[in-house]
Amino acid sequence: MIKEQIQELSQKIFNDVVANRRHLHTNPELSFHEQKTSAFVAGKLDELGLTYEKMADTGLVALIKGDMPSDKVVALRADMDALPITEANDVPYKSQNVGVMHACGHDAHTSSLLGTARILTELKSQFAGTVKLIFQPAEEKLPGGASLMIKEGVLENPKPQAVLGQHVMPLIDAGKVGFRAGKYMASTDELYVTVKGKGGHGAQPQQNIDPVIITAHILTALQQVVSRFADPKSPSVLSFGKVIANGATNVIPNEVYLEGTFRTMDEKWRDEAHKRMKKMAEGIAESMGGSCDFNIMRGYPFLINEEVLTAATRGHAEDYLGKENVLDLDIWMAAEDFAYYSQVADSCFYRLGTRNESRGITSSVHTPTFDVEEDAFKISTGLMAYLAIKQLGN
Ligand SMILES: [Zn+2]
Ligand SMILES: [Zn+2]
Repeated sequence: MIKEQIQELSQKIFNDVVANRRHLHTNPELSFHEQKTSAFVAGKLDELGLTYEKMADTGLVALIKGDMPSDKVVALRADMDALPITEANDVPYKSQNVGVMHACGHDAHTSSLLGTARILTELKSQFAGTVKLIFQPAEEKLPGGASLMIKEGVLENPKPQAVLGQHVMPLIDAGKVGFRAGKYMASTDELYVTVKGKGGHGAQPQQNIDPVIITAHILTALQQVVSRFADPKSPSVLSFGKVIANGATNVIPNEVYLEGTFRTMDEKWRDEAHKRMKKMAEGIAESMGGSCDFNIMRGYPFLINEEVLTAATRGHAEDYLGKENVLDLDIWMAAEDFAYYSQVADSCFYRLGTRNESRGITSSVHTPTFDVEEDAFKISTGLMAYLAIKQLGN
């Protein structure tokens, strides 16, 4: 039975997967600068006798062909970049690149996919079809490594019928995984807004155009884009986390600067919301005698897990882990560049539980105390290998 063989192999390689993860965790690199990480992955692929192609500068793509004939192809994706965060954990594998930290678990994704590659290579004689391994750079930074790799043809020659991605989740206990069919994560756009007026003495408002008051109106009014124009059946979020009016008790500034984020799960509405926000902000500023530069930096699209593929993959995960270890996920309004794969190919992005409360491993991703329970690697490698083999029709 292939399942038992995979389970056995995944126990055999567990210590190596931990060691690889620790190596990557100790040596994190920022988005688009994953040179050493890329070389490390290349070295491991060499050890497995796999050839690879470089893409998007530091990205790597390799193929594992099952010995039995089949045209089917499934792609497995891991991201490799770290974040500009200083690690606060006191662990033997603490980041040695100060100010840079694997705080989103991409070290776990990369080491797990290398483990999966090892399992699949050892079992080559027993399955039909091709597994495409995608090690991509820069998930954390626009325009996103996924979009660049797609532009460079990562989903062609051969074209995968399915793309699977696995991401750590500190809300789920190690040993369990989570799935959600359909829309799962949000599109994310960054908003950079400057409201301009005419500054002066706070005692003489009649001689000035107060950008602070204009901003107060804009901030309040813009929430109507979400509460009055968005379809209540589809989520939208608008938040402004930065508002700088650098005046004083008695000084009205010339301008106010704002930064915010807009997230949703509908591409048509996303475009319409952009137009409405801009028009509303500019209109309010103008009506109050000022002006407004409303700039939108488009981020990742929303992530959708294709229904049929996700139902099948979830079923295979239940086979592999037992029903009790496969959970339902809620919508998550964060962004993920795996969304680009999901926009052009049938895709499934699922979550690997990495929480262990008894060891205090509970911190959110993107925090200085984030860590993963490495016991999760007992399932991360084999599960992905099993999902791939099953998806290929074996
Ligand atoms: Zn992240
Ligand atoms: Zn991530």
